[in-house]
Amino acid sequence: MDNFAYTQAASTKEATTTKETDKQAAFIGGGTTLLDIMKSNIEHHTLLIDINKLALLGIDNAATGLRIGALERMSDVGEHPQVVQNYPVISQALLASASPQLRNMASMGGNLLQKTRCGYYRDVAFPCNKRVPGSGCPAQTGDNRTLAILGGSPSCIATHPSDLAVALVALEAKLTLESPKGTTRTVPLADFYKLPGSTPHIENHLAPGELITAITVPAAAHARKSHYLKVRDRASYAYALTSAAVGLDVQGGIIRSARVALGGVGTVPWRVPAVEKALVGKAPTEENFRAAAALVVRDAAPREHNKFKVELAQRTLVRALLEVVA
Ligand SMILES: Cc1cc2nc3c(=O)[nH]c(=O)nc-3n(C[C@H](O)[C@H](O)[C@H](O)COP(=O)(O)OP(=O)(O)OC[C@H]3O[C@@H](n4cnc5c(N)ncnc54)[C@H](O)[C@@H]3O)c2cc1C
Ligand code: SF4
Repeated sequence: MDNFAYTQAASTKEATTTKETDKQAAFIGGGTTLLDIMKSNIEHHTLLIDINKLALLGIDNAATGLRIGALERMSDVGEHPQVVQNYPVISQALLASASPQLRNMASMGGNLLQKTRCGYYRDVAFPCNKRVPGSGCPAQTGDNRTLAILGGSPSCIATHPSDLAVALVALEAKLTLESPKGTTRTVPLADFYKLPGSTPHIENHLAPGELITAITVPAAAHARKSHYLKVRDRASYAYALTSAAVGLDVQGGIIRSARVALGGVGTVPWRVPAVEKALVGKAPTEENFRAAAALVVRDAAPREHNKFKVELAQRTLVRALLEVVA
């Protein structure tokens, strides 16, 4: 690990301007992933800007929606009674992530910016286009069991790792971002992440120095009736092989609105509008869920070791939908 300097930012302005000025600096929230990446010599930061003294806290549940400060800890949000009651998919995604110790430390903003678990990215002995642009992607023909079947490119098929992001994309959450100029902008999370294309090292649309300050989620009937289902190799402390975040508003035996996103299969959290459209107007039956789930993998491009995800993704989605109407 390289030596680095450390500073505690006293204001968001100080944090963002310091980061904009020093291209080798990084914000540190819980540090649960950043320090790993630095110890493994994947990223080299000469300055860490601690943002934990900033006023980026609060879990506010209003009639219009939910607002969560970027520094709230995953465990506090996952266990918050209003989140459990009105946004179960968010609570369940958080509590299915990592381990209790990590969730107590890790922040909501940091979770959304964590790096892929692709083994080649994590091992500097291998080439990797995401880590070193232009060096190659051994995962295309190598060990790709856990990697993406949707949204990949010849440059990269790394899976997006965050469970939380899948739940938030399903519920059309937005991020509030603050710039070094002190201005704020709001970006739908679904537009925040970039597909890898030929530039997999550019993962999102954050501008230089920009800080995530909050997450907002609109209130909706499908948010109250929602569920997160995660399929993984171990019951705990493991990333998703496949996951599904679903929300349904069923009235009079008919689905009035549906929200569906998948994890573990896409290079970004994968919202599936075609499935949502296919569900609306139908009865919430297993047969209808299966027919809609087939649309999930229409554009899948599986590799040698991750072909099983084509079937598993559909089964995960059907099970999640059945859970939500049980
Ligand atoms: C063993 C292990 C298992 C895990 N399993 C899962 C899992 O199953 N599911 C899952 O979703 N996650 C999992 N994680 C990831 C974990 O959830 C993340 O490490 C954590 O959420 C990151 O939050 P943090 O606050 O510690 O981020 P940090 O490590 O502090 O930062 C992460 C990145 O975000 C940037 N950053 C942090 N806050 C902000 C902000 N407000 N604005 C702009 N940039 C910011 C940092 O500069 C850094 O680049 C696991 C991690 C480990 C180590
Ligand atoms: S899939 Fe992406 S992260 Fe993995 S080796 Fe290829 S370029 Fe690197």
